[in-house]
Amino acid sequence: MEDTVDNIVVVGGSVAGVHAVEAARERGYRGSLTLMGAESEMPYDRPPLVESSTGGGKPIQHLRPAAWYDAHDVTLLRDCRAIELDPGNRVVRTSSGLPVPYAGLVIATGSQSRGFAAGGEHLYSVRSHEDAEALRGRLTGVEHVVVIGAGFLGLELTAGLALSGRRVTVIEVAPAPLARVLGDAVGRWFLGLHEQHGVDIMCSTLAVAVDAVDDRYIVQLADGESITADLVVAATGAEPAVEWLRGSGLDVTDGVVCNAALETTLTDVVAAGDIARWYNPLFDESMRVQQWTNAVEQGRHAMASLLGSDEPFTSVPFLGSDQYDARMRFVGVSNAADSVRIEQPSSGSLVATYARDGVQVGALCINATGQLAHHAQRIKERAPM
Ligand SMILES: Cc1cc2nc3c(=O)[nH]c(=O)nc-3n(C[C@H](O)[C@H](O)[C@H](O)COP(=O)(O)OP(=O)(O)OC[C@H]3O[C@@H](n4cnc5c(N)ncnc54)[C@H](O)[C@@H]3O)c2cc1C
Repeated sequence: MEDTVDNIVVVGGSVAGVHAVEAARERGYRGSLTLMGAESEMPYDRPPLVESSTGGGKPIQHLRPAAWYDAHDVTLLRDCRAIELDPGNRVVRTSSGLPVPYAGLVIATGSQSRGFAAGGEHLYSVRSHEDAEALRGRLTGVEHVVVIGAGFLGLELTAGLALSGRRVTVIEVAPAPLARVLGDAVGRWFLGLHEQHGVDIMCSTLAVAVDAVDDRYIVQLADGESITADLVVAATGAEPAVEWLRGSGLDVTDGVVCNAALETTLTDVVAAGDIARWYNPLFDESMRVQQWTNAVEQGRHAMASLLGSDEPFTSVPFLGSDQYDARMRFVGVSNAADSVRIEQPSSGSLVATYARDGVQVGALCINATGQLAHHAQRIKERAPM
């Protein structure tokens, strides 16, 4: 096979980036291949950081062993942060001063934690291995933790902290955990799950600032009340890491805007993973998905597009989240659903199906994983609900 481009550079050494370089070699690409990332660690997996940050599991799980990069003739540049994309000269400028020229480029710089208005320096968060190690190292002697944000990450961290015997208070601005994403009824189910484990979830509550006093932290709430804790963890969401792309001519409004094949508006530049906002023909909408399976599939797909394929990326998003003994799996989308149907096949399990204009678009299964494939198929077929 003749390579359509030579010298491919992938920026962002994580899930999407590793799968992109792997796909290049699998597709027979023989040219130069560089994977560059801002972190000093070799690319690693993020979901295990939840367990490792709260004291369990392995400290780090690399996505591929060091020898894999040599075996696939991939130049791995670590500690190398992209600071500017110059598409006119086809060069990525980096923090080390080293310009990295490219013929084809994959943008895979993912997400970064969203900041917290006042007192952010007192907060721990879990986005990177470094963050997880910092939190793990700080937990000794801690009895009471406040977690700000009851999204998936906040709730998984809460479960880990509660299981380790600590008292946990969660502050959430929405009326129920996950309510914005999954609706009030499912949110109340998660509220009950955490309450059964002794967690206090304060809903419809806004944290506005965090102050350090002696060895403790005071979380100020919008209603004038405050909570004192030994440690405060922020899980207030993530935003796309697009700073280095400003001024490049790309549209970076909530992610890098791509077409259905994950191509950007710049020639020979594609995007994949948490950072890509692409048009998904299956749902007839532009979406950005911050989930592990999506990053794997998009890394592979974006590379195929760079190497000449024009197939659209029409995947059904998938997300898994384990909290205590609840195994939650979600397929499809739930935003803009106009009807939600809830069934509880047994105590401790729940199935919610989401529809838009009478067509099934999503399904959530808690301790009912056997039903997932059926629902994923229905979503793919745009089946009526
Ligand atoms: C703690 C945690 C738990 C999670 N658990 C789950 C889960 O259970 N299930 C699930 O589906 N998803 C989960 N996710 C989300 C999932 O891990 C992400 O969707 C996935 O990692 C996205 O991969 P990515 O390669 O697109 O981006 P990222 O993993 O965000 O990686 C981007 C990489 O690019 C680097 N980078 C950023 N800017 C630059 C720059 N300017 N120059 C060079 N490099 C740069 C970053 O340092 C990073 O290494 C979790 C995420 C976290 C943080």
